[in-house]
Amino acid sequence: MDTQTNFLDRLFDAGLLIDTGVEGLYGRSGQFEEVIASFERLIDRVGGGDGAEALRFPPGMNRAYFETSGYMKSFPQLAGTVHSFCGNELDHVSLLKCMDADEDWTKEQRATDIVLTPAACYPLYPTVAKRGPIANSGALFDLQSYCFRHEPSTDPARQQLFRMREYVCMGTEKHVTDFRQSWMDRGLKMMEEVGLPVEIDIANDPFFGRAGKMLANNQRDQNLKFELLIPITSVAKPTACMSFNYHQDAFGTKWGLNLEDGSVAHTACVGFGLERIALALFHHHGLDVKAWPEKVRKALWG
Ligand code: ATP
Ligand code: ZN
Ligand code: MG
Repeated sequence: MDTQTNFLDRLFDAGLLIDTGVEGLYGRSGQFEEVIASFERLIDRVGGGDGAEALRFPPGMNRAYFETSGYMKSFPQLAGTVHSFCGNELDHVSLLKCMDADEDWTKEQRATDIVLTPAACYPLYPTVAKRGPIANSGALFDLQSYCFRHEPSTDPARQQLFRMREYVCMGTEKHVTDFRQSWMDRGLKMMEEVGLPVEIDIANDPFFGRAGKMLANNQRDQNLKFELLIPITSVAKPTACMSFNYHQDAFGTKWGLNLEDGSVAHTACVGFGLERIALALFHHHGLDVKAWPEKVRKALWG
Protein backbone atom coordinates (compact mmCIF):
# COMPACT_ATOMS: atom_id res chain seq x y z
CA MET A 1 0.00 0.00 0.00
CA ASP A 2 1.21 3.48 -0.88
CA THR A 3 1.77 6.01 1.81
CA GLN A 4 0.20 9.39 1.09
CA THR A 5 3.35 11.14 -0.10
CA ASN A 6 4.49 8.05 -1.96
CA PHE A 7 1.24 7.93 -3.98
CA LEU A 8 1.34 11.70 -4.55
CA ASP A 9 4.92 11.47 -5.88
CA ARG A 10 3.95 8.63 -8.22
CA LEU A 11 1.03 10.73 -9.53
CA PHE A 12 3.39 13.67 -10.12
CA ASP A 13 5.96 11.42 -11.82
CA ALA A 14 3.28 9.96 -14.10
CA GLY A 15 2.11 13.51 -14.92
CA LEU A 16 -1.44 12.73 -13.79
CA LEU A 17 -1.33 15.49 -11.18
CA ILE A 18 0.82 18.59 -11.56
CA ASP A 19 2.64 20.09 -8.58
CA THR A 20 1.90 23.80 -8.04
CA GLY A 21 4.00 24.17 -4.90
CA VAL A 22 0.90 24.29 -2.69
CA GLU A 23 -0.39 21.21 -0.86
CA GLY A 24 -3.80 20.20 -2.16
CA LEU A 25 -3.66 22.50 -5.22
CA TYR A 26 -2.87 20.50 -8.34
CA GLY A 27 -3.09 20.63 -12.08
CA ARG A 28 -4.60 17.61 -13.83
CA SER A 29 -3.49 15.88 -17.01
CA GLY A 30 -5.82 15.20 -19.93
CA GLN A 31 -5.78 11.52 -18.94
CA PHE A 32 -6.85 12.31 -15.37
CA GLU A 33 -9.66 14.50 -16.71
CA GLU A 34 -10.75 11.80 -19.15
CA VAL A 35 -11.19 9.37 -16.23
CA ILE A 36 -13.34 11.92 -14.40
CA ALA A 37 -15.37 12.60 -17.56
CA SER A 38 -15.99 8.90 -18.12
CA PHE A 39 -17.06 8.38 -14.51
CA GLU A 40 -19.43 11.34 -14.84
CA ARG A 41 -20.94 9.70 -17.91
CA LEU A 42 -21.51 6.60 -15.79
CA ILE A 43 -23.25 8.80 -13.20
CA ASP A 44 -25.38 10.25 -16.04
CA ARG A 45 -26.38 6.77 -17.18
CA VAL A 46 -27.38 5.71 -13.67
CA GLY A 47 -29.14 8.93 -12.63
CA GLY A 48 -30.24 10.17 -16.03
CA GLY A 49 -33.70 8.60 -15.93
CA ASP A 50 -34.72 10.45 -12.75
CA GLY A 51 -35.50 13.74 -14.47
CA ALA A 52 -33.16 15.89 -12.38
CA GLU A 53 -32.80 19.52 -13.45
CA ALA A 54 -29.14 20.18 -14.29
CA LEU A 55 -27.65 23.43 -12.98
CA ARG A 56 -24.01 24.54 -12.96
CA PHE A 57 -22.68 27.30 -10.72
CA PRO A 58 -19.14 28.72 -10.79
CA PRO A 59 -16.77 27.85 -7.90
CA GLY A 60 -17.57 31.14 -6.16
CA MET A 61 -20.87 32.03 -4.52
CA ASN A 62 -22.73 35.11 -3.27
CA ARG A 63 -21.18 36.04 0.08
CA ALA A 64 -24.60 37.02 1.48
CA TYR A 65 -25.94 33.51 0.76
CA PHE A 66 -22.84 32.01 2.33
CA GLU A 67 -23.40 34.11 5.47
CA THR A 68 -27.03 32.99 5.70
CA SER A 69 -26.00 29.35 5.28
CA GLY A 70 -24.29 29.41 8.69
CA TYR A 71 -21.10 27.87 7.27
CA MET A 72 -18.91 30.09 9.50
CA LYS A 73 -20.69 28.75 12.59
CA SER A 74 -19.89 25.14 11.73
CA PHE A 75 -16.75 25.12 9.56
CA PRO A 76 -14.82 28.42 9.91
CA GLN A 77 -11.55 26.49 9.52
CA LEU A 78 -12.43 25.35 5.99
CA ALA A 79 -13.85 28.52 4.44
CA GLY A 80 -12.14 30.57 1.75
CA THR A 81 -13.07 34.16 0.90
CA VAL A 82 -12.18 36.22 -2.17
CA HIS A 83 -10.45 39.50 -1.32
CA SER A 84 -9.34 42.19 -3.78
CA PHE A 85 -7.41 45.42 -3.94
CA CYS A 86 -9.95 48.25 -3.75
CA GLY A 87 -7.68 51.26 -3.14
CA ASN A 88 -6.66 54.41 -5.00
CA GLU A 89 -3.34 55.22 -6.69
CA LEU A 90 -1.71 56.16 -3.42
CA ASP A 91 -2.77 52.84 -1.90
CA HIS A 92 -1.32 51.14 -4.97
CA VAL A 93 2.05 52.76 -4.35
CA SER A 94 2.12 51.51 -0.76
CA LEU A 95 0.99 48.08 -1.91
CA LEU A 96 3.94 47.79 -4.30
CA LYS A 97 6.34 49.13 -1.66
CA CYS A 98 5.06 46.56 0.77
CA MET A 99 5.55 43.77 -1.78
CA ASP A 100 9.07 45.00 -2.61
CA ALA A 101 9.94 44.89 1.09
CA ASP A 102 8.60 41.34 1.30
CA GLU A 103 6.07 42.46 3.87
CA ASP A 104 2.50 41.23 4.17
CA TRP A 105 0.73 43.01 1.29
CA THR A 106 -2.54 41.11 1.79
CA LYS A 107 -3.71 42.99 4.93
CA GLU A 108 -5.17 45.80 2.84
CA GLN A 109 -7.13 43.47 0.58
CA ARG A 110 -10.89 43.92 1.02
CA ALA A 111 -13.56 41.24 1.07
CA THR A 112 -15.54 41.09 -2.19
CA ASP A 113 -19.11 39.87 -2.62
CA ILE A 114 -17.77 36.42 -3.52
CA VAL A 115 -16.67 33.50 -1.36
CA LEU A 116 -15.39 30.16 -2.62
CA THR A 117 -18.08 27.49 -2.85
CA PRO A 118 -17.60 24.96 -0.01
CA ALA A 119 -19.98 22.30 -1.41
CA ALA A 120 -21.70 22.09 -4.79
CA CYS A 121 -25.20 22.35 -3.28
CA TYR A 122 -24.71 25.60 -1.34
CA PRO A 123 -25.76 27.99 -4.14
CA LEU A 124 -28.82 25.85 -4.91
CA TYR A 125 -31.03 26.38 -1.85
CA PRO A 126 -31.42 30.19 -2.13
CA THR A 127 -31.89 29.82 -5.90
CA VAL A 128 -34.77 27.37 -5.49
CA ALA A 129 -36.26 29.39 -2.61
CA LYS A 130 -36.59 32.41 -4.95
CA ARG A 131 -38.69 30.37 -7.37
CA GLY A 132 -41.54 29.89 -4.89
CA PRO A 133 -43.21 26.71 -3.59
CA ILE A 134 -41.92 23.28 -4.63
CA ALA A 135 -44.38 20.78 -6.13
CA ASN A 136 -45.74 18.34 -3.51
CA SER A 137 -44.19 15.56 -5.62
CA GLY A 138 -40.74 17.06 -4.87
CA ALA A 139 -37.80 18.44 -6.86
CA LEU A 140 -34.50 16.95 -7.98
CA PHE A 141 -31.31 18.74 -9.08
CA ASP A 142 -28.04 17.71 -10.70
CA LEU A 143 -25.02 19.86 -9.78
CA GLN A 144 -21.28 19.87 -10.29
CA SER A 145 -18.77 22.42 -9.06
CA TYR A 146 -15.22 22.94 -8.02
CA CYS A 147 -15.29 23.38 -4.23
CA PHE A 148 -12.74 24.98 -1.91
CA ARG A 149 -11.79 23.75 1.55
CA HIS A 150 -8.79 25.02 3.45
CA GLU A 151 -7.40 21.64 4.45
CA PRO A 152 -3.86 21.46 3.01
CA SER A 153 -2.50 17.91 3.10
CA THR A 154 0.06 15.64 1.50
CA ASP A 155 -2.75 13.13 0.93
CA PRO A 156 -3.62 13.50 -2.78
CA ALA A 157 -7.22 12.59 -1.83
CA ARG A 158 -7.49 15.67 0.39
CA GLN A 159 -7.28 18.65 -1.95
CA GLN A 160 -8.10 22.30 -1.41
CA LEU A 161 -9.83 22.70 -4.80
CA PHE A 162 -11.69 19.64 -6.03
CA ARG A 163 -14.92 18.77 -7.84
CA MET A 164 -18.11 17.50 -6.34
CA ARG A 165 -20.95 16.08 -8.43
CA GLU A 166 -24.19 16.18 -6.47
CA TYR A 167 -27.82 15.24 -6.68
CA VAL A 168 -30.07 17.21 -4.36
CA CYS A 169 -33.62 16.17 -3.53
CA MET A 170 -36.31 18.34 -1.91
CA GLY A 171 -39.69 17.05 -0.79
CA THR A 172 -41.30 15.12 2.06
CA GLU A 173 -39.23 13.20 4.61
CA LYS A 174 -40.15 9.90 2.95
CA HIS A 175 -39.33 11.18 -0.53
CA VAL A 176 -35.86 12.48 0.32
CA THR A 177 -34.84 9.56 2.56
CA ASP A 178 -35.91 7.11 -0.19
CA PHE A 179 -33.81 9.16 -2.63
CA ARG A 180 -30.81 8.91 -0.33
CA GLN A 181 -31.24 5.14 0.15
CA SER A 182 -31.54 4.55 -3.59
CA TRP A 183 -28.21 6.34 -4.20
CA MET A 184 -26.50 4.28 -1.48
CA ASP A 185 -27.58 1.15 -3.36
CA ARG A 186 -26.59 2.64 -6.73
CA GLY A 187 -23.24 3.87 -5.39
CA LEU A 188 -22.30 0.39 -4.17
CA LYS A 189 -23.22 -1.10 -7.56
CA MET A 190 -21.34 1.55 -9.55
CA MET A 191 -18.14 1.09 -7.57
CA GLU A 192 -18.43 -2.66 -7.93
CA GLU A 193 -18.80 -2.23 -11.71
CA VAL A 194 -15.53 -0.29 -11.86
CA GLY A 195 -13.74 -2.81 -9.67
CA LEU A 196 -13.37 -0.79 -6.47
CA PRO A 197 -13.72 -2.34 -2.97
CA VAL A 198 -16.27 -0.38 -0.92
CA GLU A 199 -18.00 -0.16 2.39
CA ILE A 200 -20.66 2.23 3.62
CA ASP A 201 -20.42 3.65 7.11
CA ILE A 202 -22.07 6.26 9.27
CA ALA A 203 -20.17 9.57 9.40
CA ASN A 204 -20.14 13.12 10.67
CA ASP A 205 -18.99 16.50 9.39
CA PRO A 206 -15.91 18.15 10.95
CA PHE A 207 -17.83 20.71 13.03
CA PHE A 208 -15.45 23.24 14.62
CA GLY A 209 -14.57 23.39 18.28
CA ARG A 210 -15.98 21.90 21.46
CA ALA A 211 -19.61 22.70 20.66
CA GLY A 212 -18.94 21.03 17.32
CA LYS A 213 -18.33 17.69 19.03
CA MET A 214 -21.94 17.70 20.19
CA LEU A 215 -23.21 18.54 16.72
CA ALA A 216 -21.11 15.71 15.29
CA ASN A 217 -22.44 13.22 17.86
CA ASN A 218 -25.98 14.33 17.19
CA GLN A 219 -25.47 13.88 13.43
CA ARG A 220 -24.26 10.32 14.03
CA ASP A 221 -27.00 9.42 16.54
CA GLN A 222 -29.64 10.49 14.03
CA ASN A 223 -28.05 8.68 11.04
CA LEU A 224 -27.91 11.94 9.08
CA LYS A 225 -24.68 11.25 7.17
CA PHE A 226 -23.30 8.14 5.51
CA GLU A 227 -20.13 7.78 3.48
CA LEU A 228 -19.06 5.31 0.83
CA LEU A 229 -15.45 4.48 1.69
CA ILE A 230 -12.69 3.14 -0.55
CA PRO A 231 -9.12 2.45 0.61
CA ILE A 232 -6.71 4.73 -1.28
CA THR A 233 -3.65 5.43 0.85
CA SER A 234 -4.76 3.52 3.95
CA VAL A 235 -6.72 0.33 4.52
CA ALA A 236 -7.30 1.20 8.18
CA LYS A 237 -8.67 4.63 7.25
CA PRO A 238 -10.40 4.33 3.87
CA THR A 239 -11.34 7.53 2.01
CA ALA A 240 -14.87 8.92 1.65
CA CYS A 241 -15.58 8.93 -2.09
CA MET A 242 -19.32 9.58 -1.82
CA SER A 243 -21.46 11.05 0.93
CA PHE A 244 -25.20 10.76 1.56
CA ASN A 245 -26.62 13.54 3.66
CA TYR A 246 -30.11 14.03 5.11
CA HIS A 247 -30.64 17.58 6.38
CA GLN A 248 -34.14 16.95 7.81
CA ASP A 249 -35.99 20.28 7.46
CA ALA A 250 -32.95 22.36 8.52
CA PHE A 251 -32.23 23.84 5.07
CA GLY A 252 -35.94 24.05 4.27
CA THR A 253 -36.47 26.19 7.38
CA LYS A 254 -33.31 28.26 6.88
CA TRP A 255 -34.04 29.12 3.24
CA GLY A 256 -37.85 29.13 3.31
CA LEU A 257 -38.22 26.10 1.05
CA ASN A 258 -41.88 25.09 1.19
CA LEU A 259 -43.97 22.52 -0.61
CA GLU A 260 -47.20 23.61 -2.29
CA ASP A 261 -49.19 22.19 0.62
CA GLY A 262 -47.45 24.73 2.90
CA SER A 263 -45.20 22.25 4.73
CA VAL A 264 -41.47 22.88 5.06
CA ALA A 265 -39.43 20.85 2.56
CA HIS A 266 -37.01 18.21 3.77
CA THR A 267 -33.76 17.98 1.79
CA ALA A 268 -31.04 15.44 1.12
CA CYS A 269 -27.93 15.52 -1.04
CA VAL A 270 -25.68 12.84 -2.46
CA GLY A 271 -22.13 13.86 -3.41
CA PHE A 272 -19.50 12.15 -5.54
CA GLY A 273 -15.91 13.26 -4.87
CA LEU A 274 -14.71 13.15 -8.48
CA GLU A 275 -10.97 13.47 -7.85
CA ARG A 276 -11.17 10.86 -5.08
CA ILE A 277 -12.94 8.39 -7.37
CA ALA A 278 -10.33 8.95 -10.09
CA LEU A 279 -7.54 8.49 -7.53
CA ALA A 280 -9.17 5.28 -6.24
CA LEU A 281 -9.25 3.96 -9.82
CA PHE A 282 -5.58 4.84 -10.39
CA HIS A 283 -4.61 3.35 -7.05
CA HIS A 284 -6.43 0.04 -7.55
CA HIS A 285 -5.94 -0.47 -11.30
CA GLY A 286 -2.58 1.23 -11.85
CA LEU A 287 -1.42 4.52 -13.32
CA ASP A 288 -1.63 3.25 -16.91
CA VAL A 289 -5.28 3.40 -17.99
CA LYS A 290 -4.60 1.17 -21.00
CA ALA A 291 -3.63 -1.65 -18.61
CA TRP A 292 -6.84 -1.45 -16.53
CA PRO A 293 -8.95 -4.64 -16.36
CA GLU A 294 -11.20 -5.07 -19.40
CA LYS A 295 -14.32 -5.10 -17.19
CA VAL A 296 -13.41 -1.70 -15.74
CA ARG A 297 -12.57 -0.17 -19.13
CA LYS A 298 -15.88 -1.44 -20.45
CA ALA A 299 -17.86 0.05 -17.57
CA LEU A 300 -16.18 3.41 -18.15
CA TRP A 301 -15.76 3.56 -21.92
CA GLY A 302 -18.27 1.02 -23.25
P1 ATP B 1 -13.80 13.88 4.70
O1 ATP B 1 -14.47 13.24 5.87
O2 ATP B 1 -12.85 12.98 3.99
O3 ATP B 1 -13.23 15.22 5.04
P2 ATP B 1 -16.24 15.13 3.99
O4 ATP B 1 -17.17 14.46 4.95
O5 ATP B 1 -15.73 16.46 4.39
O6 ATP B 1 -15.00 14.15 3.65
P3 ATP B 1 -18.36 15.95 2.25
O7 ATP B 1 -18.42 17.26 2.92
O8 ATP B 1 -19.46 15.00 2.50
O9 ATP B 1 -16.96 15.24 2.60
O10 ATP B 1 -18.16 16.18 0.68
C1 ATP B 1 -18.71 15.32 -0.33
C2 ATP B 1 -17.62 14.54 -1.04
O11 ATP B 1 -16.62 15.42 -1.54
C3 ATP B 1 -16.87 13.57 -0.14
O12 ATP B 1 -17.55 12.36 -0.03
C4 ATP B 1 -15.55 13.42 -0.87
O13 ATP B 1 -15.63 12.42 -1.85
C5 ATP B 1 -15.36 14.77 -1.52
N1 ATP B 1 -14.38 15.59 -0.75
C6 ATP B 1 -14.59 16.20 0.45
N2 ATP B 1 -13.49 16.86 0.85
C7 ATP B 1 -12.56 16.66 -0.12
C8 ATP B 1 -11.20 17.09 -0.30
N3 ATP B 1 -10.59 17.87 0.60
N4 ATP B 1 -10.54 16.70 -1.42
C9 ATP B 1 -11.15 15.91 -2.35
N5 ATP B 1 -12.42 15.47 -2.24
C10 ATP B 1 -13.12 15.85 -1.15
ZN1 ZN C 1 -24.71 18.86 -0.61
MG1 MG D 1 -13.94 17.02 5.14
